[in-house]
Amino acid sequence: MQLVPGFLPLIVSLMLQTLCSNFLRSVVGQHERDNGIDFVYHNYNEMVVLLHETAWKCRSITRLYDIGRSVQGRRLYVLEISDNPGVHEVGEPEFKYVANMHGNEASGRQLLIFLAQYLCDEYTKKNKRIQKLVNNTRIHLLPTMNPDGFEMAYRRYVTVGRVPSMYGRGNANDVDLNRDFPDLNDIMYQHEQTGGANNHLLRTVRENKESRQPETQAVMDWMTDYPFVLSANMHDGDLVANFPYDKSRNTRKMYSATPDDNLFRELALTYSLHHRTMATRTHPCRFQGAKVFRDGVTNGADWYIVSGGMQDYNYLSSNCFDITLELGCDKFPREEELKRKWEDNRDALIEYISKVHIGIKGLVTDIERNPIANAVIRVTGPSIAHDVTTAADGDFWRLLLPGVYTVTVHARGYKPKTVVVPVRRYRPTKVNFILKHLPKESTGCKLRELEEEGYILGGFKAALRQFGFLGEDCDGLVERREDVLGNREDTTASP
Ligand SMILES: [Zn+2]
Repeated sequence: MQLVPGFLPLIVSLMLQTLCSNFLRSVVGQHERDNGIDFVYHNYNEMVVLLHETAWKCRSITRLYDIGRSVQGRRLYVLEISDNPGVHEVGEPEFKYVANMHGNEASGRQLLIFLAQYLCDEYTKKNKRIQKLVNNTRIHLLPTMNPDGFEMAYRRYVTVGRVPSMYGRGNANDVDLNRDFPDLNDIMYQHEQTGGANNHLLRTVRENKESRQPETQAVMDWMTDYPFVLSANMHDGDLVANFPYDKSRNTRKMYSATPDDNLFRELALTYSLHHRTMATRTHPCRFQGAKVFRDGVTNGADWYIVSGGMQDYNYLSSNCFDITLELGCDKFPREEELKRKWEDNRDALIEYISKVHIGIKGLVTDIERNPIANAVIRVTGPSIAHDVTTAADGDFWRLLLPGVYTVTVHARGYKPKTVVVPVRRYRPTKVNFILKHLPKESTGCKLRELEEEGYILGGFKAALRQFGFLGEDCDGLVERREDVLGNREDTTASP
């Protein structure tokens, strides 16, 4: 992770280039403006200038940073929008949008640039809804995960007017970044048979960073550095909101539900129903095998199989729930369509971010109020067999649909705690857990552990009992011994 260095000379030169380019566009008169938003494509340099301009204009609520570089050395810029930029506020959830991982799928990239400008302007104009959203959410926008692929496709668009469907899709090494994430599905499906974990699985694989593309590795590191709760990644080529899993249990195309299937369906519906046409269109895209999706949503593997994709990786490696948004039939729509694209998507983009505030959230601490990181939040009734964990500050977020849930918190060295929590539709239920230490280091509990494992026999055991060593309150020993992230009954939902 790097902060942006002294960039003034570069920015001044890029701004001059951008002014010339905008002047030429205005002479030709091909684009539309609305509320300060220029509905045109921005190449890499123009995008960098615009992100810096937006960050400067709304400097009290933004931070521009990069998460690494592409194969050809372009920075992967993220614009953070938050009332306290640069800081993780305890209890405030983190959200991300990622676009343009396929370089020739261009509309998401532009939508995130427009969204950044829109949030900045509306916050300044004191739009109450936007202010509330920004004040209570840490929003991260990565407009392009594949700037090299985009530059290639964009040059073709400018010179020829249309971009072939696979041209610029991969990065500069021609690798498809949405097939380049560690494939954790096979491990999870194997664990379904053996009772192993189905979350935070990256720790179970020996990861070779050298084998990843730099853009993929940058996003993986980013996900480790920030406690993201909800996200979406943007593509083009169809019009549908697609939710995990993308990879089926037997590599054939079939509905492949996660334990959070109902929640994922609701998240996808949030986008499709607030989009102007995604849920209601009647005609499929014009390519062989295209179809119209009911309500504008689909399970990923029910449509087609993706192995090494980003949305499954989010769910199986982190606490983040990610869906894939296909924003239109044309992968590289004509510039004249960008304004309509923005109007089609604007409400859905905002509404989807607000979903980061559903379910339960809170803090896990010990009795001295010290935060407990990596505590496991488990929904035990109705059981949802997918745990989330607390962040470094002991805070957690568990997205849930409305209902009443039994929730248990486990942490190594502490007694588990269970509460029953009601969840409403539009706001999170706050619940804090204060855990008591287990007397795990006491001689008595150590001895009892040995007794349970059969190492202590006969008269020695009687003597230990007499002196009270085996009578200690060692509740939770069993709990402590099991891997709190795994070794649990799997109740994966079926479609
Ligand atoms: Zn794509």
